[in-house]
Amino acid sequence: MSHDPNCLFCKIVQGQIPSRKVYEDDDVLAFHDIHPWAPVHILLIPKLHIASMVDLGPEHAALMGKMTVLAPRLMKELGVTNGFRTLVNTGADGGQEVFHLHMHAIGGPRPWLKG
Ligand code: 5GP
Ligand code: ZN
Repeated sequence: MSHDPNCLFCKIVQGQIPSRKVYEDDDVLAFHDIHPWAPVHILLIPKLHIASMVDLGPEHAALMGKMTVLAPRLMKELGVTNGFRTLVNTGADGGQEVFHLHMHAIGGPRPWLKG
């Protein structure tokens, strides 16, 4: 598993920085965002360090599919019953602040009002 020693989310993957985990398997980790925009706001990340969507190749298709399929399952498990928003910020102009690819899943009343 390839990690970047300077990457915040790689440190979370490796347990060097604590997080409130909601799901983990060999490929994917999901945890609560530290500054939630809505009652439920989680981040789904590949355990492998991929800086952003720009760095994806065909070899990552199954991994991204796994994250996408996982998002609604986790939101349901977290009690989100009335819809949620998913987004992936990519690059500086895309509003990406942490350069380890992550999918936001934001649920609760009107999660589109922020971000
Ligand atoms: P971006 O703008 O890169 O798409 O989003 C990065 C997200 O990571 C932000 O929503 C921010 O609140 C979250 N975040 C930043 N640092 C930490 C941290 O140390 N722990 C957790 N759980 N979330 C973080
Ligand atoms: Zn990383």
